[in-house]
Amino acid sequence: MSFESLGLRAELLRAVSEKGYSAPTPIQQQAIPPVLEGRDIMGGAQTGTGKTAGFTLPLLQRLMSSEKPVKGRRPVRALVLTPTRELAAQVYESVVVYGKHLPLRSTVIYGGVSINPQKQKLIKGVDILVATPGRLLDHVGQRSVDLSKVDILVLDEADRMLDMGFIHDIRKVLALLPKHKQTLLFSATFSNEIKKLSNSLLKSPALIEVAQQNTTAELVTQVIHPVDKNRKRELLSYLIGSNNWKQVLVFTRTKHGANRLSQQLVKDGITAAAIHGNKSQGARTRALAEFKTGKVRVLVATDIAARGLDINQLPHVVNYELPNIAEDYVHRIGRTGRAGNEGEAMSLVCVDEHNLLKDIERLIKRDIPRDVIEGYEPDPAIKAEPIQRGRGKQQQKAARPGQKRPGGDKNASPWSNQRQSSRGRSNNQNRSRNQSQSRRRNTQRAA
Ligand code: AMP
Repeated sequence: MSFESLGLRAELLRAVSEKGYSAPTPIQQQAIPPVLEGRDIMGGAQTGTGKTAGFTLPLLQRLMSSEKPVKGRRPVRALVLTPTRELAAQVYESVVVYGKHLPLRSTVIYGGVSINPQKQKLIKGVDILVATPGRLLDHVGQRSVDLSKVDILVLDEADRMLDMGFIHDIRKVLALLPKHKQTLLFSATFSNEIKKLSNSLLKSPALIEVAQQNTTAELVTQVIHPVDKNRKRELLSYLIGSNNWKQVLVFTRTKHGANRLSQQLVKDGITAAAIHGNKSQGARTRALAEFKTGKVRVLVATDIAARGLDINQLPHVVNYELPNIAEDYVHRIGRTGRAGNEGEAMSLVCVDEHNLLKDIERLIKRDIPRDVIEGYEPDPAIKAEPIQRGRGKQQQKAARPGQKRPGGDKNASPWSNQRQSSRGRSNNQNRSRNQSQSRRRNTQRAA
């Protein structure tokens, strides 16, 4: 299938070909025709599938065909809501790239930066507004934006917006929009909350689902390196150094942990930067740019900050700490193995994280192979201690030593299926290339 056959106008075809795309991805093939017809969409897709162009291209076309002469300031006709600043910036970049041959104006607004330059842009009038919910409401409060003429609403990564507690903000925004509009909702997972939201919002939506996640997963090698908590940093430096990794995305559970780890890596002579919600937008953008260009070898990130990051051909993802929410593991490892490239996702797991690991394995319906690195064998005398919980308190009860926990039997060895590998082994030699064929399909079709 070609982009031409999807019925896109010449200016969009030109932009797509200049971007170097030869054919639409599966989500683009499925989403573009119904969006062009004006239908609502319920899309099961996450970053990496090409979903941004899947909604942006037809959205631009619809705005062009419905353009009416207006007196005064151009009204916002398309609103895209995203959970994070990074995703907002990336979606905006796509709007600019795909719309570069069209006379439409767009801008992006998110928190963490001064509101005044954003106001100046809004006052001039924009057709397309990409926004995070909180900052959008700040603008509404300051009367710098009018949402009463919105024809198309996109909720991008709706599940994450709900996870992040944006439901009230979203409801407030929805109350400001016209009743009759086209709504496109994208979500990687379909919880009851998402279904409730979509039922109240979407009118006979086209259901779209892509199996890309499984295809990607097949290219991702997953492995667990059992190790004691206090030796994780040392093992990480060793893995980076001995394998000569040039670009590694490392996940920690907390912002403080991300800062501390990146500082320790720098002390070890490994260039590193941290990216999380407490960093200024400037610092986050700079860290990401330096990582993309290779100036920084290691980017240490929290789940929320990393969500939606599009870094091409990222070869290695390390879970320095397992996430509290098992589904975040799937999102994390989805950062690698993209666009047909092979990727490696490894997790440094200490005894405290046994239950988190069980939950992950239950979710993805497979056991991840254990690979003990010689010299970093866990000390069997160390007993599990409770993990301090941030997000996800509801999902996981804190583990207490000696207490039976939701993740499994306290007496079962956390490392029952471990193997020993030789220190300094070449990266892929000894490791069974266990592929994640049974990784959970997050893109369940909504009932
Ligand atoms: P997304 O899921 O929208 O974040 O897109 C993931 C990546 O795929 C981005 O780097 C896009 O530039 C790229 N992409 C989107 N559509 C296509 C396409 N039709 N062909 C090749 N790459 C694409």
